[in-house]
Order: sequence, then C-alpha cells, then structure tokens
Amino acid sequence: MSEKLAVGDITIPKGEMKKGAIKGVELANNVAVDIPFLAMNGAEDGPTLLLMSTQHGIEIQGIEVIHRVMRDELDPKKLRGAIIGVPVGNPLAYMHHQYLSWIDNLDVGTVRCDRPNGNTTERLAYALWEGAWSKADYIVNIHCNTRPDSLIYQWINTGNPETRDDLVKMADAFGATTIVSDRAPAEDAPPTLGNKASWKGVPVILEELIDGRWISEPSTSAGVRGVLNIMKAYDMIDGDVEPQEGFPVVPGVNRFHGVIRCARGGLIRFFKAPGELFAEGEPLAEIYDLYGDVIEEVKMPVEGYVWAYPCGQSLGTSGGLQAVQSGANIAYVFTHESK
Ligand SMILES: [Zn+2]
Repeated sequence: MSEKLAVGDITIPKGEMKKGAIKGVELANNVAVDIPFLAMNGAEDGPTLLLMSTQHGIEIQGIEVIHRVMRDELDPKKLRGAIIGVPVGNPLAYMHHQYLSWIDNLDVGTVRCDRPNGNTTERLAYALWEGAWSKADYIVNIHCNTRPDSLIYQWINTGNPETRDDLVKMADAFGATTIVSDRAPAEDAPPTLGNKASWKGVPVILEELIDGRWISEPSTSAGVRGVLNIMKAYDMIDGDVEPQEGFPVVPGVNRFHGVIRCARGGLIRFFKAPGELFAEGEPLAEIYDLYGDVIEEVKMPVEGYVWAYPCGQSLGTSGGLQAVQSGANIAYVFTHESK
C-alpha cells in the first residue's frame, strides 16, 4: 500500500480519516449528484476494505453501519490498512426514496461500469468503479430486505476459485446465515461492479440486513459487529471475532431455492417467521378474499426456510402492503446443507 490513499479526488495521509465525494452526474438544472464517501488510511500497512451501502435507494441501514464503524469504532492510528465507506451507492435512487435510479429505472449494481460515456446510471457505476471499487482488496456490499421480520443473511458466490476462500472466510467472520451460490460470472457477462471485481480477484460479499427503510436494531449492531469481525479476521484491527446475537442464524451452507408465487389475489397471511424450518408440503401462506374467505393455500415446495416475505411483483421489488395479485413474489425460499 502506498503512503497516501487516493479516493475520488482527495488523498488521505496515513493515520487520518477524510470526507469527500466522487464526482457523479449532473441534473438538468445543473445540480451535481455526487457520491459522498469517508476514507480512513491506517497508520500501518494492510489491505483496503470497501464498505458500500444503498445500491438500492430504499435500503438505508448500511449507512448507519458505515457511520458507526468509521466514526465510532475505528481509530486510524490503530488501523492496519485502509477503509473506504460509501454510504449511498446510488444517490439517484436514494434522493427519491426509490429502489432504482429515478431517471432511467436502472440499478447501479447491474449496469455496466466501464462506460464513462454511457447512460446516466452507467456513468454513476463507472464513477463508483474508478473512484472506490477499483481501490479495494475486499468489498462488503450492504443491502436490506424491507420488512423488519425478515432474516438477516449474506450471499456469497463461490464459483470463482480466485475469491472462494476469501468469501467463505468473510462470511464465517461476519456470522450471519450464508446463502452460497457457485456460479462464476460467465466471461461474456456484462462488466458490472460485482463481475469486474470478481474477475480482478476481489471478493464481494453481499449482506442483507432487514427493516431497510428505518435505522433500527438488530440490523445496525449486526452490521457493525459483522464488519468489525471481517476486519479482525484480516488482522486490520485487534480483537477476536464475536458471534452474532439478537437474531436467528441458520448455520452451514444454504442454497437459494427460488421465489414462491401465489395464484390468487387478495390479502395474505403467513404461518411462520423467516428463519423457522418448514417441512416439504407444509402450508406457508394463505390468500383470502375481500369477504374473508380463504381461496388459496400456498405450500412450501421443499424442506427449508424463508428469508423474507416481500409481497412484491418480481425479484428485487418489495411491496409495502400485505395484499397480493396473481403471480406476486410472496417468499424467498432457501434450503440447508450441512457443511
Ligand atoms: Zn438491495
């Protein structure tokens, strides 16, 4: 690591923390929408960890996690390595309380990040890559499910042998329920932030906290503890990894099974909390009509667990209402494998 850490257009000497902003995009009224960051350069050498929150504009718990880790918990004089915190990865989504960029309905994490002359959200992704992601050795990308009754979990993709061991190490240290996928990004996949990092050999762990619209527990403490645990596992700070507490953890290797959809429309009630074990065929939810009659029973397709009841229209969207239509996304299901 060099003596000075450069993020955006500022440099941070060893043993200091600075605030800055990565130049982003410009609106029609000439207002700049930039990407604020905190960057701390430790007094001693070590890896560079990037924490990014709010790729999706309505998932704000990670902002608090970054503030608490960087402003309250860490001391640059005692840090080995560097830490970059990007509280809001998609300011165009966040500024209008929307999941995606309001300008073009795109996701800064799924568009190409190699187009300085691309569309508006691609330019933000490019700015994130050049300004922050390309500087990191390890990346924690913090998301949230909407509902407070969801299960805190993390997602790792072990398909790339270059990053597999680090991702398992980061997940073990963070300590939440781990969903494992083992598909490496195809070589012809688009160069998104995540794919580009993976191809470079930089592990990106995705953390899903809960109650994404409100700063609340247990999400913020789980996030702070998990991030500090990762830093301890990589010897960036002193101390032992602390087990997570205050929410359920399904240990070992878990796999995403799929999205469960309902056939009928109406109001919906659920029978078990996320993180509780279901038998195959066990009733998961029932739909009832506006007269109060039950018109559909939705069963669990496999033995396994639910991590959230989004009641949304498609993957990634979440409704705020306990009411659904035919084909609504009502549950995310995962299965468990012992290690
Ligand atoms: Zn998200």
